[in-house]
Amino acid sequence: MPLSLAGVTLTYPDGDGRVTALDGVSLEAERGTVTALVGPSGSGKSSLLAVAATLIRPDSGRVVVDGTDTAGAGRRELTTLRRRAIGMVFQQPNLLTSLTAREQLQAMAHLAGRGTRAARDRAEELLDAVGLSAQARRRPHQLSGGQRQRVNIARALMNDPTVLLVDEPTSALDHERGAAVVALLTELTRQRRTATLLVTHDHAQLASADRIAEVRDGRLLHGLSTATAAR
Ligand code: ADP
Ligand code: MG
Repeated sequence: MPLSLAGVTLTYPDGDGRVTALDGVSLEAERGTVTALVGPSGSGKSSLLAVAATLIRPDSGRVVVDGTDTAGAGRRELTTLRRRAIGMVFQQPNLLTSLTAREQLQAMAHLAGRGTRAARDRAEELLDAVGLSAQARRRPHQLSGGQRQRVNIARALMNDPTVLLVDEPTSALDHERGAAVVALLTELTRQRRTATLLVTHDHAQLASADRIAEVRDGRLLHGLSTATAAR
């Protein structure tokens, strides 16, 4: 299984006590599928992604990414696992202001210790896949919001991740551009065979998801339903 969470509980310090962000969450994601996560603000969606991304260790429960049980992994091992197996796309495309679109992607390969020639070819191939071949030499301020988010998505795919974690990618975009970004994410999920978790608050975007999981108060409601009904 590319991604598996079992009985995951997570709390944060809160004054003298703790606040529960995730309360016994279990979820599995297959390659080539989009699992949409919906739920009100504060329900635990971003926490779930952070745990799946191995950025936060849960208080209890198991997180297995690409065959690695993260409980037994040290910090260095987790860093390597993240670079190799996990792509992340967050709300705001946090691109480096001085780098061109292509360099943003090449920087990811560099972190993973990949050769520059192959990285350059792959960066160009991915920019083409997200429709930005012509913008490869532009810096972030020369791109539109939608284009920056596409660079962000291409960058997340640079190291050919098994798992793609996407947190409200369209909240900074208008409806039409947002829908286009979600359509692109779905297409790339099929094409690149990623196990994709997509947090969205826009119900119109759920139609292309393979499954929908509703998060409430740190729990997944009624397990997982297929999105067939929404199609
Ligand atoms: P969502 O993404 O669905 O809005 P979050 O995962 O961000 O939900 O938050 C879940 C709960 O955890 C909320 O009660 C939130 O206030 C709390 N929380 C999130 N991040 C932190 C943090 N770094 N420190 C303390 N509490 C947090
Ligand atoms: Mg959130």
